[in-house]
Amino acid sequence: MDQPSPPTSGGWDLWRLPARAVALVLGVEAAAVVVVITGISVPTAGAVGLAAFLTLLSVVHTELATGIERIRRRAAETSYFDLSSVWTFAAALLLPPVLATAVIAAVYLHLWQRVWRPAKVPLHRHVYTTATVVLAAYAAHAVVQQAGGLPTAAAHVAGVAGIGLAVLLYVLVNTVLVAAVIACTSERVGVRELLGRWDDNALEVATVCMGGLAAVALGFTPGLVALVLPPILVLHRAVLVHQLEEVACTDAKTGLLNAAAWQVQGARTVRQVHRSRGTAAVLILDLDHFKLVNDSHGHLVGDDVLAAVAAELRATVRAQDVVGRFGGEEFVVLLPDLPPGPSGDTEMRAVAERIRKRVACLTVPVGTPDGVLTVRGLSVSVGGAAVPTDGTSLEQVLNAADASLYAAKREGRNLVRFAGPVEIPSPRGAT
Ligand code: GH3
Ligand code: MG
Ligand code: MG
Repeated sequence: MDQPSPPTSGGWDLWRLPARAVALVLGVEAAAVVVVITGISVPTAGAVGLAAFLTLLSVVHTELATGIERIRRRAAETSYFDLSSVWTFAAALLLPPVLATAVIAAVYLHLWQRVWRPAKVPLHRHVYTTATVVLAAYAAHAVVQQAGGLPTAAAHVAGVAGIGLAVLLYVLVNTVLVAAVIACTSERVGVRELLGRWDDNALEVATVCMGGLAAVALGFTPGLVALVLPPILVLHRAVLVHQLEEVACTDAKTGLLNAAAWQVQGARTVRQVHRSRGTAAVLILDLDHFKLVNDSHGHLVGDDVLAAVAAELRATVRAQDVVGRFGGEEFVVLLPDLPPGPSGDTEMRAVAERIRKRVACLTVPVGTPDGVLTVRGLSVSVGGAAVPTDGTSLEQVLNAADASLYAAKREGRNLVRFAGPVEIPSPRGAT
């Protein structure tokens, strides 16, 4: 699975973490050491051979996967998605705990050399991940032993159920320990940051399931386990497809939706609002005299300003509002689920005015070769229109909002204008 990544930058320097996080990290690592020591036994030569074979498969897997992962990282700056749990889980089920730990240590050492050290991940973070995997492996091993070992005959239903339970427990132990350390390092953190994306968890479960099948195959016919490699490599590609989809929808300069993706999502949302007889609004924003920013400071500074405005915009609206970069220095916001009647009207005007004011107050520090430059004095003109008052399709509402934007520009800029008869004038230059 992915390395745990707490939202705060620099938050993984162990001694700079809050005391409770340090205590958790050291506690988990100590627990892993204790279970390894208490589980020490003398393995058979056959088990040692199996451990070596699993380690070899993991090394081959990682070497083949790094090619795919290199493409993935080129597509977006996210961490490597390691699917090594297919081998560590198989080791947990098949081998005595001490040998399973040896496989985990070898697999994670190889990953450290090939992936995480070059990616400059702190060593203690990798050690923590390794410790969580050791604990998860012990839990999975214990469940399968309780169920009478791996199934060896069709009638061994308890063995099959044991593998199912072991899959759940393995994923659960890892997820909970990673979530716990993230929760300890961050003040306010959402469920999504704690538990990761649904897709990623599904991928991890799929990988661990393959590990269960690999363990059973290894028990009968070791050669069959080689058949696990191709599907695992295809799983890496599946992550790549998902990531490329995301990149295709994102505006690289601002991280907002790009125009095409915004239109698709916006049209879908407007259709839903129309069907449910709800109310929504579209705002088009155009920075005033943005050419001056480029002319005065250069296009790179202009790009930083665009990114800062985009971040401000995202922070000013609700999570469900659809924000996109429409083109150059133009942004679009769709506000669904507005209250019906006059209060919806009031709310969309309030949001537009809030955006205008926050852009006017924005100061953007930009690093230049001559030191930090602060760009201020920005302003934005906003045009708005509502569903269903000004149209029932995205195109109609966009056209109405665009006409309102032109009105705002014509009337002096740094203004909010709406389609329709009711206009609340916002005094020019007011903050
Ligand atoms: P107005 O108040 O009428 O909107 O004036 P304006 O200068 O903002 O508008 P105009 O359309 O004349 O110029 C838009 C400028 O936005 C011109 C272009 O250089 C700049 N621009 C467009 N895309 C980008 C971009 O990606 N990065 C940077 N730095 N500038 C951009
Ligand atoms: Mg423009
Ligand atoms: Mg402009």
